[in-house]
This record gives sequence, C-alpha cells and structure tokens, in this order.
Amino acid sequence: MRITVLGTGYLGATHAAAMAEMGFEVLGVDVDERKLEALAAGELPFHEPGLGGLLKKHVNSGRLRFTSDYAEAGAFGDVHFISVGTPQRPGSYAADMTYVESAVTSISRHLTHDAVLVGKSTVPVGSARGLRALARAAAPEGVDVDLVWNPEFLREGHGVQDTLRPDRMVLGLPGPADRVRQGEDADQESAARLEATMREIYAQQLDAGTPLVVTDYETAELVKVAANSFLATKISFINSLSEMTEAVGGDIRTLADAIGMDERIGRKFLDAGVGFGGGCLPKDLRALRARASELGLDQSVRFLVEIDDVNVRRRDHTVGVVTEMLGGSVMGRQVAVLGAAFKPESDDVRDSPALDIAARLHSIGADVHVYDPQANANAARRYPRVDYVDSLPQAIARAEVVVLLTEWEEFRTMTPQQLAPLVKHKQILDGRNVLDPAEWERAGWAYRALGRKGST
Ligand code: NAD
Repeated sequence: MRITVLGTGYLGATHAAAMAEMGFEVLGVDVDERKLEALAAGELPFHEPGLGGLLKKHVNSGRLRFTSDYAEAGAFGDVHFISVGTPQRPGSYAADMTYVESAVTSISRHLTHDAVLVGKSTVPVGSARGLRALARAAAPEGVDVDLVWNPEFLREGHGVQDTLRPDRMVLGLPGPADRVRQGEDADQESAARLEATMREIYAQQLDAGTPLVVTDYETAELVKVAANSFLATKISFINSLSEMTEAVGGDIRTLADAIGMDERIGRKFLDAGVGFGGGCLPKDLRALRARASELGLDQSVRFLVEIDDVNVRRRDHTVGVVTEMLGGSVMGRQVAVLGAAFKPESDDVRDSPALDIAARLHSIGADVHVYDPQANANAARRYPRVDYVDSLPQAIARAEVVVLLTEWEEFRTMTPQQLAPLVKHKQILDGRNVLDPAEWERAGWAYRALGRKGST
C-alpha cells in the first residue's frame, strides 16, 4: 500500500515521517514550495523533538519523498491522508474549509486507480459526508474513491511518539445515516472495506494495544473538537479559580494539586497561568461554537463562550500585573519576556499567549526584549516590532521586570542567583507557576505569580 500525505505542516510532516518509519512508501504533498524544498533536503522547517532524525533517515532511504504535483500523488498513492490546515476564517469563528476542499478535489481529480482518502484535519461536524460526495464527483469515471475520518490527537512537542504510539485511534465510517438517506446498502460493505484498510495501515499500533474506536463520521469529527474543548475547559476552570485565589491570598497550585488527587478529576491540564493558545485549542473551540450556532444549538455550547473569555482575560490580567509591578506604567520600562512559543518544545507561535502579551506590553510603551529557545524567528515574522535576543542573559540585561511566559526547561531551572547580577530590579512574574516562590523571595526578589501569593 502506498501512502500520500496532503499538507506537510506540523501534523502532515510528522505523519509522513512516522508512516515511512512504519515501513510504507510515502509521498508528502504541499502547495508551499519552500517547505517542500526543505523537507526534501531532510531539513525540518519547524521544531519538533525527534522528528528531524526520522525525516533525514527516510529521505535518505528513499522511502519518503515530497512533491507539489497532485498528478504524481494521484498516480502514486492508494491511501491519501488529508492533513491540510483548517484555520479560523478571517472575520468569523468558523473553520476555513477551503484548504481541505481544495486538497480533496485536487487529489480525487488526479486519481488513476481506486483509492481511499483519510481525513485527519480537524473539521466541523458534518464535513466528512460532504467531502465524500465532493471526492466522488471529482474522481474520473470508473475510479472508486471512498473516505474515512481519522481525527488526529498528536500534541506538538510529542508528535512522533503520539503518532507511533497513540493513546487511542478513532475511525469514522460512512454509517447508517448515509444508507437510509441515499438507499445505498453498498455503504455497509464499503465501511467494512475501509475499516480493514485502516486496520492494515495501523497494524503496528493495534498490535501494541492501542484502543480503536470505530464509529460514524459525525461522532469521529466531534470526538476531536470535544477533546480539545474539554482540555480548554479544564484550563479555564483553574484559571477562573486563580482569579479568586489571587484576590483572597490563596495558592492555586496547592488547590490544583489537592483537587487533582481525586482520580475523577486528575491533575493534568490544571496548571493556572497565562492560558492556552496554539494552532488548535482556541480555533477548535470557536469552530465548535460556530458550528453549533449553524445548527441552532447555541445554548448547548454556551459555556464555551465563557471558556474563551476567561482565557483572553488572562492576557489582559498579565499585562495589568506587569504594569502594577512597574508602579503603574510600563512606558519606556525595560521588560524581559521569557518565551514566545505557545508551549515549550515547540516553535509554534499561532495564537500564543506569550507573544500576545509581549506585543500588548510593547503596544503600551514598554521596551520589550523577548527570548525563546526555538520560536524567535516565527515570532519575529508575526510581530516584528519587539526586540528578539538570542539568550537568556541578553533578554534580562538591565530588566526592570522579568516575565516568564513559556515554561521551557531553561526557564524552569534558572536560579535567582544566576539572574540577579544582570537585571536592574529583582522583580519576576512567573506566568506559568513553575518557579519556587520561597527560593526567589529568599534571594531578595519580588516574586509574583498568577493565582498565588507573592511578595509584591
Ligand atoms: P499547518 O499550517 O502547520 O500545515 C498545513 C499545511 O497544509 C501547510 O504546509 C500548507 O501549505 C498545506 N496546504 C494548504 N493547502 C494545501 C493543499 N491544497 N494541498 C496540499 N497542502 C496544502 O497546520 P497543522 O498544525 O499541521 O494542522 C493541520 C490540521 O491538523 C488542522 O486541521 C489542525 O487543526 C489539525 N491538527 C493539528 C495538530 C497539531 O498539533 N498541529 C494536532 C491535531 C490536529
């Protein structure tokens, strides 16, 4: 079975390299020639631990190739994974489906033999049925094309591991609703065939015990956005309570530890701080709201409005705390911002709270110096107006306040003694609650955190 991966961004490049590692012949397809050039040379155009080695290995072995030519892809592949972007549509909360529709049409039009399309992009519920019809309408006469929806759950920073050893797999198949609507009993048969194909592709994962959930298209599409909405809900829940602990002088970390000991709740995703960001959680949450609204179901997901609002409020609040620490105005003050990526082990700055806060501080007059171990270049492209520096010492030189916004290991392990000789004022805001307040206070620093007692 030969595989193509349509869209070679964070998800697609990881998926393509992992498929090659699993033994398949893989062709990655993208419309971005610069990205393709880098990938074909075995160079990863973004930061993802462990992926660079895998990419080089399989580009060198010849098992993994890249192209922008859909005709080549249509002739090559038996199974075509769709992993193009579905960003928030400008001026709307809805997902922009134009890239997915274009990829499906382009590949289907160029098929030279029967093929299966596998949707991995995150899409609004109801999309798969329409895409299946689109593919069938575009495919040449006599070529059979079918579609399975296989949402992706990988986490940036853990992409390789998550692809090779996922914690679950979901397959959405053309289900009964289709048969009833169209009187097509054949769908039962095609669903069985699709499931068998997917079981063959993922044999290694399934043999290793990864649970497989087989369901209809709609449930599969919803599993993905439901999972992300639930994670966002946990984060905004703890951040709401951190507003309270901060007001009354409690400690949000202790609170999270204590409620997290209840296994029904769990400790993960209960870290209070500057909130969530990235290319998935915020836009998936909003796309779910938009889709619910189209379906007349605004009430059902009304809570998501508050989840998003709490999250955005974190950024305003952080800017407010920095302003307060600087005595009421940031104008002309030296601010060191540690982190620009939306999370550590990633260079992704899409909707990053760190970069947004740095930009907001700059826009109200602060002299902002940003250092991120991996994301400076992406951040500078998105928001060029602040000063990006290449090291922690450069960022904090003469700083009047140090603001930790992405919890890279380098920042988690820095010590007050190491920073003290370089800064102008020993003041730090721990936007991720990863430092030990007592250690910093003992060393004479004014330590402040979000949702915790501090000395300022
Ligand atoms: P990305 O922006 O990094 O990559 C998308 C790629 O698709 C780009 O390289 C773009 O050039 C390419 N593209 C656009 N139109 C194309 C076309 N017609 N044909 C071929 N290529 C085309 O996005 P991403 O982060 O990889 O996300 C892709 C999808 O996967 C989204 O729906 C996202 O929600 C979902 N997802 C992402 C992650 C993640 O961690 N990044 C995890 C799970 C799901």
